Amino acid sequence: MDKKFVIGIDLGGTKINTAIVDFQGNIIEQINIPTLASEGENVVLNRVIQTIDEVLNKSEVKIKNIRAIGIGAPGPLNSKEGTIITTPNLPFKNFNIINPIKEIYNVNTYLDNDANVAAIGEHTFGAAKGSNNMIYVTVSTGIGGGAILNGGIYRGNTCNALEVGHMTIDPKGPLCNCGNYGCAEVLASGTAIARQGRQAIEKKAITSLTKYSNITAYEVFKEAKNGDKVCNEIVNKSLNYLGICIANLVSIFDPEVVIIGGGVSKAGEIVFNVVKDVVKIRCFQILSDSCRILSAELNANSGVIGAASLALREENIL
Ligand SMILES: [Zn+2]
Repeated sequence: MDKKFVIGIDLGGTKINTAIVDFQGNIIEQINIPTLASEGENVVLNRVIQTIDEVLNKSEVKIKNIRAIGIGAPGPLNSKEGTIITTPNLPFKNFNIINPIKEIYNVNTYLDNDANVAAIGEHTFGAAKGSNNMIYVTVSTGIGGGAILNGGIYRGNTCNALEVGHMTIDPKGPLCNCGNYGCAEVLASGTAIARQGRQAIEKKAITSLTKYSNITAYEVFKEAKNGDKVCNEIVNKSLNYLGICIANLVSIFDPEVVIIGGGVSKAGEIVFNVVKDVVKIRCFQILSDSCRILSAELNANSGVIGAASLALREENIL
């Protein structure tokens, strides 16, 4: 067996998902373990190494068959150096994660932030395959983004471009976790939708949400679909903000395709209908007519397939 595989590692705050992936984007073997982020940076690094060993042991693939390793992790980070700068859900502070892995396995190793990695995955094996200019937006707990421009990943000056969740949408809006006011993330993320649902109950609004003990964006979307007026207002308002965020991206980048992924995109048609309407209203017609707005295809495996795609791309295999 030649070097016909790469390893993709999705390093998250709660779990590490590691897979051996072939050059066609097929997962050969996969392993998933808790991150144990609270136990410190060396423990987490060792757990990453443990997943590489275990996924190789489970399969017939040997380390000599691995062309490269790709890692996706939450930012901000420095992908050129392989350093995770700091992130709320992982213990790393200016920690170089790729050098120890390169040393152990003698395999080229690459790091990028989770949204860039998902963008690369969708562009390589998912909904944006074949496009030259694409924007990826993930809407779940937070909002993140990535861009492939002129066929290549656009990282920006400090490797942290496309922080779309912290684009100001309403200067008078609520306080965001980042310290700014009215960011897209605090107005249109799954967390924002859930928060507004809970606030509606606190304000004694007449809503079917009162039957739930725990309200997430899922319940708000569900009750909106069932005709609840309050939920429909929350959903429409939030998706309108998401639409503004995406319209701004379309106006800046003139992409062929915008891919929306993350938990909120699973609410389906309503998300895409509202976003497409807002883009149509706010962008030049030539831009909105030529830009497709599609759902992500890689879903639960977007992290590992994306990290594997990063490795394939950096090695100029694809
Ligand atoms: Zn923010």
